[in-house]
Amino acid sequence: MAWLVVKGVAILGSTGSIGCSTLDVLRLHPEQYRVVALTANTQLDKLYDQCQEFRPDYAVMVDEEAAARLSARLYEVAPEITVLSGMAGLEHVAALPEVDYVMAAIVGAAGLLPTLAAARAGKHVLLANKEALVMSGNLFMEAVRQHGAVLLPIDSEHNAIFQCMPMNYSAGFRQVGVRRIMLTASGGPFRETPIEQLATVTPEQAVAHPNWSMGRKISVDSATMMNKGLEVIEACWLFNTVFSQVQVVLHPQSVIHSMVEYVDGSVLAQLGNPDMRTPIAHALAWPERMDSGVDSLDIFSVARLDFSAPDLQRFPCLRLAMEALEAGGTSSAILNAANEVAVEAFLDHRLPYPAIAQVIEQVLAEVTAHEADSLAQILADDAAARLAAEQQVAMKGTRH
Ligand code: NAD
Ligand code: MG
Repeated sequence: MAWLVVKGVAILGSTGSIGCSTLDVLRLHPEQYRVVALTANTQLDKLYDQCQEFRPDYAVMVDEEAAARLSARLYEVAPEITVLSGMAGLEHVAALPEVDYVMAAIVGAAGLLPTLAAARAGKHVLLANKEALVMSGNLFMEAVRQHGAVLLPIDSEHNAIFQCMPMNYSAGFRQVGVRRIMLTASGGPFRETPIEQLATVTPEQAVAHPNWSMGRKISVDSATMMNKGLEVIEACWLFNTVFSQVQVVLHPQSVIHSMVEYVDGSVLAQLGNPDMRTPIAHALAWPERMDSGVDSLDIFSVARLDFSAPDLQRFPCLRLAMEALEAGGTSSAILNAANEVAVEAFLDHRLPYPAIAQVIEQVLAEVTAHEADSLAQILADDAAARLAAEQQVAMKGTRH
């Protein structure tokens, strides 16, 4: 029998949808992986239960008071677990020497600093937190290169592309004979809703995704297709390519998770059930394979696969993301920040659905973008965009 080295895993955002799916996969392989750190924002009870089951060395809660309460509760049952708090706690566990794999599954800009800390510590970074890359693509990829980190995409489309790409893809498309990426999108719950009805859709309707079960923010992003816009930007950074070589394809069945076309006309696709445990298990086991707990694809019940081009009138957020990508610099960070504010306001019933795109468009017009060459600049433009977006929400929003 091969000698097994147990790998240490830190899960940033362990109480979320991706975090829980990661723990589902790890539960199947206790002899190969050890959970070193778990982290959460506010869900104390859930993190407590996870700590009881997985017995990590560290647990982090962002809020100091919540961390103190967790610490008091854990002291009764697992006093060996060290409880930390704040961004410093997240960055600390992301860079621990006993951690080999960091699952970056915090939602939004809050994940940037700890994900960057993992890259700078040369970890295997399992990247679900696409917002981090959208904000800081250049800096992040540079940190990965400089510190010898291994970046493995968890986003199902990017994981599919990674699986279809040649090993040496970072040399650039031309060098490796790739012509383009075809990024698939389900089109979300409003793919066929009459456009005039979009004015009155509710958060509950927006988060009811037809194929995937996900956190609330990414579910709204899927409904607006901002998620696909963020993913186009993510793909350009991950695979060292440009906007013109990424084609977005509506594919409502979500069975093909994306495709890569080569210069000889070959198109490679990765297929499977829409279940995030597949990309998570792929990234954890890479370059080997292991069981994810996902059922076999029943190709006969799928029966057919449909494809069409996205309608940018229906999905203005997709257009805005493409424009931000083309504009370059901190435009993507500004887009992302405005989107986070607008989506939160929509989920809080403070903003009608069509105003999400309007707020973002206005913020992109108002806030000056800069070269994205320092973290300070990126964070400053992120903050300026949040402020401008809050003002827009106050103007456009009504309680509904
Ligand atoms: P979620 O809302 O279910 O979970 C988010 C996690 O982040 C939670 O553990 C929460 O405690 C933590 N968190 C939230 N705000 C935080 C803050 N300010 N500071 C520290 N931690 C914070 O989200 P999710 O659906 O699991 O998505 C996580 C990330 O993965 C997102 O970037 C999303 O775009 C990406 N992603 C998710 C899916 C999916 O199927 N859910 C698929 C692809 C990509
Ligand atoms: Mg995706």
